[in-house]
Parts: sequence; structure tokens; C-alpha cells
Amino acid sequence: MNPSAQPPICNYEGSNYQQVFWESGERQYEDQVEAIAIRRLLNQPGEYLLEIGAGAGRNTPRYRTYQRIVLLDYSISQLEQAQARLGQHQRYLYVAGDAYHLPFVAGLFDAATMIRTLHHLAQPQLALQQVRRVLKDGGFFLLEYANKQNLKAILRYWFGRQAWNPFDLAPIEFAELNFDFHPKAIRHWLAENDLQLIRQLTVSHFRLGFLKRTIPLKVLVALDSLAQLTGNWWQLSPSVFALAQAGEMRKSAPVNGFFACPQCEGEQFHELPTHMECLTCGRQWEIRNGIYVFR
Ligand SMILES: [Zn+2]
Repeated sequence: MNPSAQPPICNYEGSNYQQVFWESGERQYEDQVEAIAIRRLLNQPGEYLLEIGAGAGRNTPRYRTYQRIVLLDYSISQLEQAQARLGQHQRYLYVAGDAYHLPFVAGLFDAATMIRTLHHLAQPQLALQQVRRVLKDGGFFLLEYANKQNLKAILRYWFGRQAWNPFDLAPIEFAELNFDFHPKAIRHWLAENDLQLIRQLTVSHFRLGFLKRTIPLKVLVALDSLAQLTGNWWQLSPSVFALAQAGEMRKSAPVNGFFACPQCEGEQFHELPTHMECLTCGRQWEIRNGIYVFR
């Protein structure tokens, strides 16, 4: 890919996002309802799962039915935090790379997930195209996205408290590299990329400060768990989980190899303790404390 065509990347390098947002940020409600959605949607047995935007590995232990999990994140420091949490167990492989150039051969994965990540992508269609490329035919894709057509945004729009229209199909960038999407646009992009929608769950219906302060956590989680099941009929929650399956439109060739060079797409490497050398273009990619750095 032409380097000038590289979309901007939201980089969490050096960020204490996990600690501030999840651990001391009163996000137990969001965390628990996400766990329920993942359990409901991603319970198929499989070998390789790719977690795109894995961050510090908060969701990684939840992919219980897959044998090996590849954690991909742009930020090396997020992956170091994930390593500290999950360990250098052979079940996990840590890869620093970007969602627009997934450094893997085509058809490698039985499943892929992208949770709270599309939210930061300026070119979501490009990333979805990459997801389909690395999935096997019939492989599963679990996508979470921020829904612009949520009840709070609709009410704010109707009462003149918000300028942007939640019913409009275009993404809204409400802060730099933070996007909310329309469910219809997402369904269209999935279909366009040979990812067939199977089921949708709406999540985090009660993400409102006063509810979280006044209603016990357990009750709020149970209510959300019920409300999730209406996700195929309407989507008015701030977060939506969509499960899709890779079709057979782009039948992939038998898989040979694992990594693919993001610079030249070469699939042959010479692996040394400190780096991977691409045998096609000669570029050396660092291996830093067990993290394969393809960026
Ligand atoms: Zn190369």
C-alpha cells in the first residue's frame, strides 16, 4: 500500500487506559454486560482466534472455546500490559500491527473479534476487508461498534441539544478519531465484505450515570442481559455486538504459513531470536520481549 494512503491511527502507546477507564473508572457494568454478549455470541469451538485491538487483554480470557489467541494491537505498551496480565503462555501470541495491514496470511483464522476498536477507525471498510481476508471461509467475526442511533442521541437531537442527526447513515466523528456508526451502514459494509450477519445484540442500554449510581449493579446487568435479546429487531443502545460469518464469495486458498509482511505481503520469513526477516523484501521486523512488531 502507498504510505500516503495510510489512514491515521489512534495510538494508545503509553496510555494507562486499562487502569483509568476500566479498573478505577466505575465501568463494571459495561465490562459485565460485554462479557455476557461475548459468551452468547462467540461459543463455537475453533483453533485460531484473532483479537484486533486487544489492548491490555481485558476480554482475552473470555474467548474460551478457541485454542490459540493472537492479540493484535497497534500499541506495544498495551500488549506489554496484556502480557503482564495473561503471561507468556503458549496459548497467547502478541503482535503489534495495524488493522489496515493485518500481518497474517489469508484464510488463517477460525474467528476474529473487534471490540471497542472500530470506534477509532477512520476507514472502517478497509479494516473489514482485511478481516475477511484473514478469516477462513465460514470463520466467525464478532464486531462491537458504537451506535450513533442510540436513544440518548435521538432524544438530544429531537430536543435541539445535539446538532448531528442520529438517523443519518454517515459516521459521526464526535472527537478526533472517535467515531459512532449507524447500524444500517455497518450491516452494509459487512455484506459488502462477504461477512454475513448472523445475530445482533444491543449492549449497555443503561450506560447513564444516574442509573449506575441508583440501581444495584447486579440488577442493571440482569436488565441489560434481557434487553440484549431484542438486538435483532431494533438497535437503540450505545453499543452493538454483531456476529457475522465469512461467506464463500472469496474462496481462500489452502493456508501455508502464518505471518505476511505488511510491507510487501511476502509470506516467507527467516526467524531469528530478535527479529523476523522477510525473505521477499528483506525488511526486518523486531521481536521485542515476545511481541512480534509489524509496524
Ligand atoms: Zn516484505
